[in-house]
Amino acid sequence: MADHAAATSTLPSSNFDAVIVGAGFAGLYMLHRSRGLGLKVRVFEVGAGVGGTWYWNRYPGARCDVESMQYSYQFDEALQQEWEWSERYSGQPEILSYANHVAREDIQFETRVESVHFDEETERWSICTDRGNPVSAQFVIMATGCLSSTNMPDIPGMDLFAGDIHHTGQWPHGGVNFDGKRVGVIGTGSSGIQAIPLIAEQSEHLTVFQRTAQYAIPAANRPLGADEQADVKAKYPEFRAENSLYPNAFSLRMPLNETSALDVDDDERHREYEARWREGGFTFSWSFGDLGLDLDANATAGEFVRGKIRELVRDPDTAEKLCPDTVLGCKRLCLDTGYFETFNRPNVDLVDISKQEIDRITTNGIETGGREYKLDAIVFATGFDAMTGTLLAMDIRGRDGLTLQEKWSAGPGTYLGLGIPGFPNLFTISGPGSPSVLTNMIVSIEQHVDWIADCISAMSKRGHRTIEATLDAEENWVEHVNAVANETVYPACNSWYLGANIPGKTRVFMPLLGFPPYVEKCDEVAANGYEGFTLT
Ligand code: FAD
Ligand code: NAP
Repeated sequence: MADHAAATSTLPSSNFDAVIVGAGFAGLYMLHRSRGLGLKVRVFEVGAGVGGTWYWNRYPGARCDVESMQYSYQFDEALQQEWEWSERYSGQPEILSYANHVAREDIQFETRVESVHFDEETERWSICTDRGNPVSAQFVIMATGCLSSTNMPDIPGMDLFAGDIHHTGQWPHGGVNFDGKRVGVIGTGSSGIQAIPLIAEQSEHLTVFQRTAQYAIPAANRPLGADEQADVKAKYPEFRAENSLYPNAFSLRMPLNETSALDVDDDERHREYEARWREGGFTFSWSFGDLGLDLDANATAGEFVRGKIRELVRDPDTAEKLCPDTVLGCKRLCLDTGYFETFNRPNVDLVDISKQEIDRITTNGIETGGREYKLDAIVFATGFDAMTGTLLAMDIRGRDGLTLQEKWSAGPGTYLGLGIPGFPNLFTISGPGSPSVLTNMIVSIEQHVDWIADCISAMSKRGHRTIEATLDAEENWVEHVNAVANETVYPACNSWYLGANIPGKTRVFMPLLGFPPYVEKCDEVAANGYEGFTLT
């Protein structure tokens, strides 16, 4: 990258053109674009290093489930040509090395932004951190991540437990030694499903506490051959262009089959599912055009996966417990490496807590259904307060002292997932109301960062000081996001997309479905002089 070595730190100035909160992939690219615009910029990051998700989630088995050649930046041709990925889906250490290769300058680490207040007289934001020394900035860009506030359930007795407690999203940097230990894992979403096979290998005994059985498709991870990588690199622009049209398509080798699952006979349907199951990855959800739209079509995919689970898991009772009965994909589909087979191991037990929640944590373990499971360590793979949790954890106040908590008391309202009425010059990267978590997120992040950087540049050229989403634009946008979701099967179950994993959180479908039309809309808004925003 051009500015990798050249950048000089501006520490310790206190007045900035832009402050960026977070140094994950969003913050790093925003920093790069801001420097390119000649802005005086500072990034604040809680962690001691860059990488965000990949800095915090160091649990065994953590890896991307978008293929490496796609789950990477495309803005820098030299970077995408020089970087070599070793596997089809990179592991956490490799993705973290990649993030470190990208940048470290102008970032103040181990610094939590606590408050961000708008001063109407100066039309600037005042930013306070846990390190003192408030700073001010014309623009604040929240690159705080959609999955960065861990969800730690409030189970009675947690403080009594004599062993170790870990959360997959805040994994110790030195790793955890499970050798000879009896381990309990709570949670069977993507993180649990990745970690469980490895914890099973590393521990003496593993008990998995499952509240909802989850669909998982084989990742079919493998080393990424040099030839295969060279082929993609030779036509990276075309590969990216195609991938941008389908950013939630993770295998271009087997693109969307537009046929309805209900328009083919059983044999043909089975052949299609079987081929995609073997290919591995999210291409499975592309087996037919209506899996995300029609519950009957979707049910055929669910039945196929249940059939596979019954083949893979030897004990019929365990297999039945592992069979999901939800709509496939309405909780984010998981990719696995040997997850179901793990339950054939003699040292692994599955405890179904769907009808009988965990009663309490005791000194010795977990109590549920009138039984105590003796444990030396408990792993919470219980996910995140997604999309809004991290933003609402800060004291963000816009015009008239309006807090973000007040503004979003009935659910998150934004315009394009980028701007919030009452909060001028504050942008959210992959904010609620944008496609974000329903896409290959690096693609979405780059699109948002480019839009924000181009907007700041246009404002400067046209002599504008502030930009603020209008209430009308926000209301219409929220209605649009809901209307799109309601045409699909997505709202059909209790997912984190809806905030349903967090007790008391307002139930609203937060991301927007449909990336290409969203990009068109953003471009149109900009071309029409930032329609839906007020500029002063
Ligand atoms: P993050 O990486 O979450 O970075 C946000 C940063 O902001 C964090 O470092 C955090 O410490 C910092 N921060 C937050 N609040 C503050 C504050 N108040 N003050 C200072 N700093 C703050 N997406 C995909 O598309 N494909 C995948 O395969 C994929 N795999 C994933 C695997 C895991 C285990 C998880 C949890 C998520 C995965 N995701 C995946 C989603 C992933 O979050 C995004 O792909 C991407 O890494 C998000 O980057 P980001 O910079 O927006 O946010
Ligand atoms: P998650 O999908 O929200 O899964 C959390 C799990 O914990 C669920 O099984 C949930 O059960 C369970 N749980 C939550 N609270 C509980 C409680 N009080 N008692 C018992 N069980 C409880 O979280 P995640 O697995 O960390 O994944 C979050 C997202 O991060 C993913 O959807 C994905 O976007 C991303 N991610 C991606 C990868 C990857 O493969 N690249 C890996 C990890 C994460 P219920 O279903 O009943 O709520």
